[in-house]
Amino acid sequence: LGRKNSSSEAPNDRLLGGLLSPEFDDKSCLSRYQSMLYRKASPHAPSPHLVRKLREYEALHKKCAPNTDLYRKSIEQLKSGRSDGPMECNYVVWIPHNGLGNRVLTIVSSFLYALLNNKVLLVHIPSDFTDLLCEPFPGTSWALPSDFPVHNFLDFDTGTPQSYGNMLRDKVIDDEMLSGSSNATLPAYVYLHLPWYYDQWDKLFFCGDAQRMLRRIPWLLLKSDHYFVPSLFLLQEYEEELRQLFPERATTFHHLVRYLVHPTNAVWDYVTKYYRAHLAAADETLGIQIRVFDNFPVPFESMLRQVINCSLSEGILPAVNFQEWAGPASKTDTKVKAVLVASLFSGYAERIRDMYAKHPTTTGEVVRVHQPSHEEQQHTEQRGHNIKALAEVELLSFSDALITSAWSTFGYVAQGLGGLQPWILLRHTQSDLPCRQAMSSEPCYLMPPPFPFPSSHCSKDHGDAGEAAAATQYVRQCEDELGGIKVF
Ligand code: GDP
Repeated sequence: LGRKNSSSEAPNDRLLGGLLSPEFDDKSCLSRYQSMLYRKASPHAPSPHLVRKLREYEALHKKCAPNTDLYRKSIEQLKSGRSDGPMECNYVVWIPHNGLGNRVLTIVSSFLYALLNNKVLLVHIPSDFTDLLCEPFPGTSWALPSDFPVHNFLDFDTGTPQSYGNMLRDKVIDDEMLSGSSNATLPAYVYLHLPWYYDQWDKLFFCGDAQRMLRRIPWLLLKSDHYFVPSLFLLQEYEEELRQLFPERATTFHHLVRYLVHPTNAVWDYVTKYYRAHLAAADETLGIQIRVFDNFPVPFESMLRQVINCSLSEGILPAVNFQEWAGPASKTDTKVKAVLVASLFSGYAERIRDMYAKHPTTTGEVVRVHQPSHEEQQHTEQRGHNIKALAEVELLSFSDALITSAWSTFGYVAQGLGGLQPWILLRHTQSDLPCRQAMSSEPCYLMPPPFPFPSSHCSKDHGDAGEAAAATQYVRQCEDELGGIKVF
């Protein structure tokens, strides 16, 4: 088993301070209650209010789950083509978009949005994503049934007339509807189009008036690829509730991702076997996640140099003495550092492994380098590929220290699960430094709407002064993207 949290822990710690429901059968999803054995103990306890809200949410989800009478009632309303106001059960339907990291960030963001609005989160699970994650809510399912009557929602995108932005632009939704003063019937559902290429109309989702109107619509279909939680913190609507849920704001993602994301037994078996074979015996583990984007290519040697410079200058890895050749490890008390490299390519790990295999370290420590897979290319449409990706995110989250790549949502998920403050490998356009330590394990909202919103943006909205204050208090510029914001 893991080595992090043996003995002496409070007995309820397997529930992460009440974050997890005790109602699950252990065997159906071993990772749920075992992850804490492998990760560093989190110094952050969830607030009693968060714990209470999660239990309330679980009860609501059970009551409104697919195939209940209340679900069927809401489906009938959807089929009628209009909304007459909120129903007993109201839903956010998550539409997957882009890679595993993007998906996890948007599941978490959508869940928090649902939680704040007493809506129920249902997810569409495509074939490349089946049996990767356990059900997160006890005694029920979050899977959207295949007979969901909006058949073409996977094609929803920029041009979809039912998107909130397009309905505003086309005046299908007008000021009167927004202010709640008109009796006009509301659309049966609204598509929330929030991927990075959203336009200025779509971004008006982050206005108070939009939030209030959308609360009256039982079905919201949401597509995004970013962690949009920071913008929820800027809405006066949610200020008080978020303060109670997350008194330590910068632990929001950490708590929610550990609540929602649990790999299934097949993935977990791979993770724990790999951990035991390569990492468990080490005195310390370091995760290095190297992501090179096609739209921001970095030559191999530059990236390798940056990783090594970061590791050495920050004292994360020991230097080597290039004048000497390594002999066989002699002393039994030699300290071993295990490095887990996650990358689509094998070259980085090979070169770092070579460096430590050939030369002794100046500290006498031994450094061993491991890489579980090198897939060469992203293949999100392949389930086997996604299993490896999830397994590596998990393994990275077990690390004592973590180095991640700027802009990578894959790294964000690992840091959140582990509660780690990674050293981020910065883009050379951003900084001359090889890396910088993140202020928390919060992900960056890389492409947020402008903030605070100019009052002209949100029709008849008020509270811009409040939002401006929130902007300086609750969010900060990201380490890896000057235009991005993160909860602070
Ligand atoms: P992002 O593109 O870095 O923000 O992260 P995503 O997870 O959204 O998309 C990248 C995808 O490429 C991952 O989900 C994997 O499918 C694949 N990928 C990228 N880096 C790695 C890696 O280090 N290991 C593995 N196994 N897959 C990776």
